[in-house]
Amino acid sequence: MCDIIWCKKCDTVNYLDPYCFWNWEGKIKCAECGEVYYIHMIMGHMYKGPEPRPGEQPDILPLYADKPYDGYTNFPPGTEGKTRPYNCTPRHIYLGRADQRKFSIRNRPMRAWPQPPSAGIAGSQGFYWDIKKLSPEVWEEYQEKIKRGEVRDW
Ligand SMILES: [Zn+2]
Repeated sequence: MCDIIWCKKCDTVNYLDPYCFWNWEGKIKCAECGEVYYIHMIMGHMYKGPEPRPGEQPDILPLYADKPYDGYTNFPPGTEGKTRPYNCTPRHIYLGRADQRKFSIRNRPMRAWPQPPSAGIAGSQGFYWDIKKLSPEVWEEYQEKIKRGEVRDW
């Protein structure tokens, strides 16, 4: 269920989030004109309101609002000062570039970084990697890891 407040002043439909407003009493601001409405919802039903309360401070902003008589005009979630902030963006560690690793967790060489061309312009050697010739620095590091006993099968 999603209840709405249809603003009489500016014909904007303010959508209330069902989870937050299932049992709720308070004031909501219209996203377009800023008119404050009082509502009291009990078990998802509008018990009181919406009653205009001009000049009062709103408790919360609507989740989303649009104007059905005015084409595609809308206020998506997270519009500053109009709708509630949208906090579902990924954490910063998930927004960057992928890790480029040269060795697996068992310290075996991996091709998880940009590779030098190995078989001409359109060539591909998907299952063959002459690591000693094509990536000598990785080969040397691999030999060091073998000497230190860090390369494991499991
Ligand atoms: Zn309004």
